[in-house]
Amino acid sequence: MEDKLYNKLGIYKSLPLGLRNVIGYTYRALPLSIRYGKTYEYYNKLLQDSSNWDEERKNGFVIQKLKETLINAYENTLFYKNQFDSVEFDPSNFNELAQLYTIPLIDKIDLRKNKQEIKNRSIQEKNFLYVTTGGTTGIPIELYYVKGNERSREFVFMTDQWKRIGYKTGDKIAVIRGSVVDEKGNNTLFRYEPVKNRLFLSTYDLYENNFRIYVEKLHKFKPKFIHTYPSAISVFAKYVKQNNIEFPTLKGIFCSSEQFFEGQRELIESAFKTKIYSWYGHSEYATLAGECEVNTDYHVFFEYGYTELIDEEGNVITKPGVQGEIVGTSFEMKGFPIIRYKTGDFAEWVEGKCKCGRNYQLIKNVKGRWHQEMIVTKLDSTISLTALNMHSDLFDHVVQYQFYQKEKGKVELRVIKSNEYTLKDEEKINNSFKLKFKELVDFSIRYVDQLPRTERGKHRFLIQELDLKEIL
Ligand SMILES: [Zn+2]
Repeated sequence: MEDKLYNKLGIYKSLPLGLRNVIGYTYRALPLSIRYGKTYEYYNKLLQDSSNWDEERKNGFVIQKLKETLINAYENTLFYKNQFDSVEFDPSNFNELAQLYTIPLIDKIDLRKNKQEIKNRSIQEKNFLYVTTGGTTGIPIELYYVKGNERSREFVFMTDQWKRIGYKTGDKIAVIRGSVVDEKGNNTLFRYEPVKNRLFLSTYDLYENNFRIYVEKLHKFKPKFIHTYPSAISVFAKYVKQNNIEFPTLKGIFCSSEQFFEGQRELIESAFKTKIYSWYGHSEYATLAGECEVNTDYHVFFEYGYTELIDEEGNVITKPGVQGEIVGTSFEMKGFPIIRYKTGDFAEWVEGKCKCGRNYQLIKNVKGRWHQEMIVTKLDSTISLTALNMHSDLFDHVVQYQFYQKEKGKVELRVIKSNEYTLKDEEKINNSFKLKFKELVDFSIRYVDQLPRTERGKHRFLIQELDLKEIL
C-alpha cells in the first residue's frame, strides 16, 4: 500500500497542513501489515527467531534463497542469462557456495549500461517503482524496485535494528539527512510529517546563525531519536557542546551512510548524552549489517542477502582481518536482480560471533566510497583522504571543512569558522597539512559561509574537479 501511494505523494504534499495531519494520523493508525503488505509479514515473522538459528538451518536458508534468486535472474533477464551462460553456470543445479563464485562480478557501470536487460521482463511496468541514487562518487544509478517488496522489507530490517537500542514503532524521530522542501516545493528549514511522526530538518542550513532555531524546534518536538549522517550531526554536536546547551533527552542517534572520523563518535555521544547506533547498507539492497547493543562491529544479516569480501583479483576472502571489497547478492530485488555486485565499499571479517548471542557473521572497519577519494600531487601521484589521518582536535573551532582541487599539486581547504576560531587555529591547520603534503601539494585555506553537499544532502570531504581517469 505504501508504495502504491508513492505516486500520489505529490497530491498529498500539496494539501493544506491541517488536512495532511488528519490524513497522516488516520493512515498511521492502520496496522503495519496493511500498510506494508505480505512482504512485511513474511520478514517480520522471519526475523522473530532467525538470528538464533544454528549453522545448519542458517546455511540451508541461504542456499535456498540464493537458488531462488539465481533461477529468477536466469529465467527472466537477458543480462544474467548471458552472464551465467558465459561461464556455463546452470542455476537449477545450484547447491553449494563454491558454484556461486564462478559467476562473473558486476559493478555500478554494468548496472547503468545494462539497465533494460537487467529488468525482469515478467513484471508489468506499472508494478515497478523507479528510483535513482545519488552516491558519494557522484555517479547516480537507476534501480527498479517492485512495489510493495523492497521498501517494505527495508522497513522490517531497519525497525529490527533500531529496536536494539530501544526504538518502538511510532517513536518520534527528528531526521537531519538532506534538503527539506515545503508543500510548494521551496526549500525550507523544517517540515513535520504526520504519517511517520517525523520532523525533518534541513542539513543545508546547519550553520551558526540557525542553530538556536534548530534547538528550539527540537525542544518543542521532543524526539526520542535523531536519524542523521555523522558529518551533519557532528557540526551540531560541536555547537551544543561549546554553548553548553541542554538538549531534550534522547534514547539514541541513528547514524548511517558515512564513516566516523577518529573522535567524531565520542564527540556526538557526549554532546547529546546518548548512544549512537550505526549500520551499513545501500540502495541496491544487497548487504545490510549493523551494530548491536553491546558491540560496534557490524552484524551481517544473512536473511537479507549474501555478502562476500573479495581481494583485488576478485578472489573470495575468508580470513579475518584482511580488507576486501564488499560484494553483495540481494535476496529481494526480484524485478532488478543484483548478483555478485561490487559495491565499491570495503570491510574486513571479524573472527567469531558476538556475545549478544545473535548468530551473525561480523564485519568491521567498513569504509565507504569516499575513502578512495584522492588528491593528485605535482608528480601525478595520489594521496587518499584516509591517509591524511585527520585528527578531530585540529578542527576544534571549525564548523565544517572540505577539500577542493582543480589543479594538480594544489589543494584548497574550505573552512567554515566557528566563533572561537582564531589565528592560532589557522596556524595549526596550516602547519599540519604543510607537514603532510610537503613539496608535493601547495596547500591553502579559504574561509566560506557554506559548503556544497551532494544532492541528498550528504557532506563531501573533497570536491575533485580533476578527471582522475585521465591522469592515473
Ligand atoms: Zn551483537
